[in-house]
Amino acid sequence: MIIVMKPEATKEEIEHVKSVVEKHGLGIHKLSRGVKQTVIGLVGNTRAISEKQFEILDGVEEVVRVQKAYKLASREFQKENTMVEVDGVKIGGEEIVVIAGPCAVESRDQFLEAALAVKKSGAKILRGSIFKPRTSPYDFQGIGTDGLKLLEEARDATGLLIETEVMHPEHVRMVAPYVDMLRIGARNMQNFDLLKQVGRSEKPAILKRGLSATIHEFLMAAEYILSEGNPNVILCERGIRTFVTETRNTLDLNAVPLVKSLTHLPIIVDPSHGTGKYELVEPMSMASIAAGADGLMIEVHPRPEEALSDGPQQLTPKRFGVLMQNCRKVAEAVGRRM
Ligand code: PEP
Ligand code: MN
Repeated sequence: MIIVMKPEATKEEIEHVKSVVEKHGLGIHKLSRGVKQTVIGLVGNTRAISEKQFEILDGVEEVVRVQKAYKLASREFQKENTMVEVDGVKIGGEEIVVIAGPCAVESRDQFLEAALAVKKSGAKILRGSIFKPRTSPYDFQGIGTDGLKLLEEARDATGLLIETEVMHPEHVRMVAPYVDMLRIGARNMQNFDLLKQVGRSEKPAILKRGLSATIHEFLMAAEYILSEGNPNVILCERGIRTFVTETRNTLDLNAVPLVKSLTHLPIIVDPSHGTGKYELVEPMSMASIAAGADGLMIEVHPRPEEALSDGPQQLTPKRFGVLMQNCRKVAEAVGRRM
């Protein structure tokens, strides 16, 4: 249930509504967000309470019951799109924001080379994992905490924002001072302790869809982060498991317009993991923008043939440059910019 206050509602009226809410044993999640009105979101069991109990209070404009299991993430709760802004980069606005970089930080030279290349072609955010969730325990697991300083160095060298994956709740506090955004990978979409910890962080979060997650489960995972107080969640469609074996995953572009109808959160697409094949990354990037994605996440490696993970899907800097040019044309055609 949400309570929308009148634009002219006084501080005292808002405080009174909050006290009545608490008297009913409910929790409060307040949102103002550039909107002129104050919106008070209630969390807890509101079934036994009638809207009337709040509608009669001074300063209340309307009371809306949110039917969806995901409350804070739902469009019912917030009609206008959420725009996640980090240091002037806005995700969820008119601009298509591109996050690019190697699958993993492998060495200083490799990472800085990739960073400078993606910056040159117009990426705004640099990706680079230092913890790698691998199917085999014998495969490269990431360079770990040694990579933290490299993330920082690449940010200083390029001015790009930096994001990296966190796999464990303890990673959140460890990594946060070195990065601008945290990423939760597909395999951890339902690592609820991790979601809660990221929800307590100040850093915006990129939440990737689980390999076999429904849209409902995806949005419930986002709800975990929001419900802990972090409003800056960016959803990322990265392909799901289907009977198709010719591609690594099946990129579910249905998810983009569907998610947009259900939630106010921005959604980006990762066609690198979504396809597993570098040749498919550019056409699916263009399709993602046409479908309404707010951004892209693209793996770029200076020498994909030498990559310690995901070589077949990583683009060379040159191919990435071509992708950016072609995607700009699609962005323009659908009234966005890149
Ligand atoms: C990644 O983006 O580095 C990654 C491991 O992707 P996913 O979690 O989508 O598999
Ligand atoms: Mn990868």
